[in-house]
Formats: sequence, structure tokens, C-alpha cells
Amino acid sequence: MKHPLCPRCEAQHVVKSGIINERQRYRCKKCSYYFTVSKLGKNIDSYYVTKALQLYIEGVSYREIERILGVSHVSVMNWVRKYKVKQPEQTEYHPSYKVLSHSELVAHMQSAKNLQGAGMMITELGDKYMMIKWKRFKE
Ligand SMILES: [Zn+2]
Repeated sequence: MKHPLCPRCEAQHVVKSGIINERQRYRCKKCSYYFTVSKLGKNIDSYYVTKALQLYIEGVSYREIERILGVSHVSVMNWVRKYKVKQPEQTEYHPSYKVLSHSELVAHMQSAKNLQGAGMMITELGDKYMMIKWKRFKE
């Protein structure tokens, strides 16, 4: 997929930086300018479709997915229907998530306490990282 040019300095080196109100946001690596391009409509990057479905399977609500990824909950519902994704029943594990910058992520990992008693997965999310944790419910 071709990235657009930075509208400020016309550099070609731009990176994806999340979705804001259904618009793909980019960040220019040269001048750090953030910009969005026209509405994505039905052509949302499959990257976000996969992420949204992953979160759905993990038990994250539609509204929360909207908040995390910036794609509307209606889109997420449509994908769930389109790909016939079913949430397994989850009673023992409870997912929670955090969106962290790289330095926040490193700080989080430095404390052994934060790594105990839960499974976790870290996935890139634009220029940040999303950490999903599964904690066993206390009996
Ligand atoms: Zn630029």
C-alpha cells in the first residue's frame, strides 16, 4: 500500500499512526507532522479488521474496540457478521488492555510484578503498543 506525501514538508517517509474518526492518520518521520487522509469507508485496512476481531474474540466490547482502534463499533459489528466470528465463552479469564508508548511499555516490563499472574500479548498499534492481559478470576 502506498503512503501519501507529508502535506507540510512533502517527505515520502510517513508512517501509519492509528485511525481517527474512520480516517487513517499518518505521521511524517521527517517533521513529525500528523495528518489524516480522506474517510476510509468500506476500505479500512485489513490490519485493523484483524485487530478488531482479535479484540472481539478476547471479550473486549464493541464500544471499547471503537475507543482503542478508532473504527466505529458499527464497522466492527459488520466485520463480526461478515467473517462469522464467534466469541468463545469466557468465565475464567478476564481480558484487560492498555495502550502504551514505547517508553511506557519498557517501564511496565521492568517491574517483575507486572508480569506475574497474567498472560499477555503485545501488538503494534500505529506508533504505540497495545498490551492485552488475561487475568484469572479469583475464585
Ligand atoms: Zn513532513
